[in-house]
Amino acid sequence: MSDFRIRFLGTSSAVPTRERGLSCSVVQYGNEVAIFDCGEGSQRSAIAAGLSFSKDCSIFVTHMHGDHVVGLLGLMQTMSLYRRERPLYVFGPKGIVEFIKYNHEILGFGLTYEVRVSVVRSGVVFDGEHSKYRVRAERSLHSVLSYAYVFEEKDKPGRFDPRAALSLGVPEGPLWSRLQSGHAVRSPRTGRIVSPDQVLGRPRRGRRIGFSGDTRPTKKLASFFRGCDVLVFDSTYGDQNSVNAKENFHSTAREAAELAREANVKQLILTHFSARYKNVSALVRQARSVFPKTIAAKDQMVYDLSELS
Ligand SMILES: [Zn+2]
Repeated sequence: MSDFRIRFLGTSSAVPTRERGLSCSVVQYGNEVAIFDCGEGSQRSAIAAGLSFSKDCSIFVTHMHGDHVVGLLGLMQTMSLYRRERPLYVFGPKGIVEFIKYNHEILGFGLTYEVRVSVVRSGVVFDGEHSKYRVRAERSLHSVLSYAYVFEEKDKPGRFDPRAALSLGVPEGPLWSRLQSGHAVRSPRTGRIVSPDQVLGRPRRGRRIGFSGDTRPTKKLASFFRGCDVLVFDSTYGDQNSVNAKENFHSTAREAAELAREANVKQLILTHFSARYKNVSALVRQARSVFPKTIAAKDQMVYDLSELS
């Protein structure tokens, strides 16, 4: 798997700035795309990033606030203008079905593809049969009903050991492919059955990316995100505005870091910065004092997971 990355299309909270658009993060995984939140302007950032509008695509909305969901309408319309044919899957809290249905009716744009909208609950919300990932949801703590998500690569079979296969009398060729896909084969040399576990290492756990959406840090989220490779977390405020974070049901950079440490993730990426911060380096410093593996997202930043094992 070579193509596995997060693209940040919008990293501002509430209002856009010159440098930052409204919330939108995209996971590109092979030929599939998963979009987390879709604030106004997301489609323009997607075009700037060169993203295709025809791929297998699912959109996961964390909560029904305009700065996280309004961009969906324009994106859907543009997908039609590009004559998308594959169905589009949209997931979100209560209200997502009506939001799309009524806006679509009022705006009266035609669709060249089917839109399948689902209301999410905690647990697995997406696990496509032909998809190489699944997405789980958990309740977060914001001023309205809201969910956090984990993008989870499906577990992969262990590494194939060619020397083990040869020593068991299985020559290179179609029999190797059978073993690699989990089937037992008969050795043409010894006549014995060779099973996949004799030539494959331990299954490799899929990599995981957590997306908090807008939230206070909670115990429940710390356990939901436990062991994530990458955690993308609400970092609306710095230390000096911790009161605002509590009042508005957001997190400070430091709180995001404390949660990342508790959840034992490998990498924390801060996002959703208040427009009051022209420069977020102080927020990054505050977070790093708790959890050193912290970086700040910015629009059009790409974080590559393909090298992460
Ligand atoms: Zn927000």
